[in-house]
Amino acid sequence: MTTYNPPLADINFCIRHLAKMEDILSLDAFEGMGPEDLEQVLEEAGKFASDVVAPTNIPTDQQGCRLEGDEVQVADVLADVHRQFVENGWQAVAGDPEYDGMGLPATIAFATAEMLQSANMAYSLMPMLTRDAVSAIEAHASDELKQQYLSRLTTGEWAATMNLTEPQAGSDLSAVACRAERDGDQFRIRGAKTFITWGDHELSANVIHTVLARIDGAPDGVRGISMFLVPKFLLDENGEPGEKNDVRATALEHKLGIHGSPTAVMNFGDNDGAIGYLIGEENKGLFAMFTMMNHARLEVGLQGVAISERAYQLACSYANDRIQGRVPGQDGKAPIIHHGDVRRMLMLMRSQLEAMRALAYTAASHDDIEHHSTDAAARAAAGTRLSLLTPVVKGWCTETSEQVTSLGIQIHGGMGFVEETGAAQYYRDARILTIYEGTSGIQAGDFAGRKILADEGRELGSLIGELRELCDSMQGDEQLDSIAQGVRGGLDQLESGMNWLIANATASPATMGSASFNLLMLAGTVLGGAYLGKAASIAVSEASSASESFGKAKLATAAFYCAHVLPRAHGYLAAMTSDADLTMAIPADSF
Ligand SMILES: Cc1cc2nc3c(=O)[nH]c(=O)nc-3n(C[C@H](O)[C@H](O)[C@H](O)COP(=O)(O)OP(=O)(O)OC[C@H]3O[C@@H](n4cnc5c(N)ncnc54)[C@H](O)[C@@H]3O)c2cc1C
Repeated sequence: MTTYNPPLADINFCIRHLAKMEDILSLDAFEGMGPEDLEQVLEEAGKFASDVVAPTNIPTDQQGCRLEGDEVQVADVLADVHRQFVENGWQAVAGDPEYDGMGLPATIAFATAEMLQSANMAYSLMPMLTRDAVSAIEAHASDELKQQYLSRLTTGEWAATMNLTEPQAGSDLSAVACRAERDGDQFRIRGAKTFITWGDHELSANVIHTVLARIDGAPDGVRGISMFLVPKFLLDENGEPGEKNDVRATALEHKLGIHGSPTAVMNFGDNDGAIGYLIGEENKGLFAMFTMMNHARLEVGLQGVAISERAYQLACSYANDRIQGRVPGQDGKAPIIHHGDVRRMLMLMRSQLEAMRALAYTAASHDDIEHHSTDAAARAAAGTRLSLLTPVVKGWCTETSEQVTSLGIQIHGGMGFVEETGAAQYYRDARILTIYEGTSGIQAGDFAGRKILADEGRELGSLIGELRELCDSMQGDEQLDSIAQGVRGGLDQLESGMNWLIANATASPATMGSASFNLLMLAGTVLGGAYLGKAASIAVSEASSASESFGKAKLATAAFYCAHVLPRAHGYLAAMTSDADLTMAIPADSF
């Protein structure tokens, strides 16, 4: 079975109760919208994902992409999918109505993105990067650039890319060497970018590149980087794509996964220099790019959720069909789903998937408050919380998706290792998620350094306090008591880890490197468990006859997570607080 059933019950639940859609809809920006309208949008998005996009997942993987002359060709099936995607307005869900967007909450766009990612992750990267570029252009570009480009990008008529990486500048963007030479009001961009997702293609009439480059004479390091908008086709006097700009894809990478996404080497300015327009202030390009990257990081975390969902659905289906061995109390041979060890694996997949979704939607909802609340204090608080949670969503959900998709293969036995079932594709596709948009090591450094040490643990401390109150409210309820105890224990460990970091970060040069990844995994494991526990407590309290089975399943899933996944928090805490010199004990020249 390679079909996709949109998990609307869980998504709607997360949106209603964890993302607190009622609070979001009370904002002026969303006046007149009701929860039922949004559920209707999600139902339609689910149908589009399952009926139109999901059937293209395997053909896209098999056909891949190729460079023919100067043109990048992607899998044939994608042209029709993309046409329908744009025509039906799916790119514009949360777009600003001033630029032809629908103006729905970003949390709703997040949910439509999850379903698109589950349906075909390689394709979903193009709409994702376009959305992210829109956020940077909206926040930082001149009015003239906004008027020229935003509507077409918001609707998806044109696509966008993100050009940071160069051969010598990967995680370390201070090494960016691409040059920008002033030419009147515009710039001539010269240099090569590598690994550019959907760097070029024929699916849209123009491709708008956001590019980091250094204006001649700018300071070295990150303080000398500016951001530019470089269109594939320059606009004519009517604002339509005209003359081809001096930018082209010169090679495509052969990759482990996401074969349907063209990952290009992009050459800017081989001839007269590619014409580019400054976005934001000179030398403040990294600041502008971070608007885009923070959105992208959250959405790459969401890809971890989405690919895990797809792998889980496939594993459930196979476990129900595959007959192998006997189980006590049953006549004849049984489907493998009756074996305890297979159930353990399915529950590990399901419980981590639901914990990831609970965490990701909780985090994403702060975006709407940050951008649309009329209360400045509420905007600031939402921004701080989102900023704390972004590396956890990116780092933990993607690392966990590799385990979940691997379990998906294990449940298939040998059939998981061969390509025929589709389980292997999810594992291959998931493998990029911990690398692009900042590797897990970079997320861990951001979480430990900028989000905890620079803030002296205040924001994480207050989140831990809020979640302890949640545990208090669950304590004493027969069904929820053990979950509350498990989560409380996890929160104690997370607090110990945070306090240890604050006390020891500078104890040895190796401390941050040795501790921060373990701290990030500790935070994800505990916060995911806490939000799953919260979901269970709400599901139980609101259980009506219609939602009784949902509530019972949520409770059982949370209880399993507390028993089988949360104990990993001990291990992460022990590893992060161990002697950092153990990590560096063997000299570099001995490896
Ligand atoms: C399929 C694919 C699509 C991509 N799409 C895009 C795109 O659209 N646009 C774009 O600009 N880029 C894109 N990238 C590039 C991607 O963002 C980089 O590969 C990534 O940021 C890592 O950089 P790197 O590959 O140079 O690895 P390196 O930076 O060389 O890292 C290698 C290892 O060293 C570790 N490391 C490096 N520095 C540190 C440090 N300071 N502290 C701790 N650990 C460190 C890393 O965590 C990693 O484990 C894409 C890459 C791939 C493979």
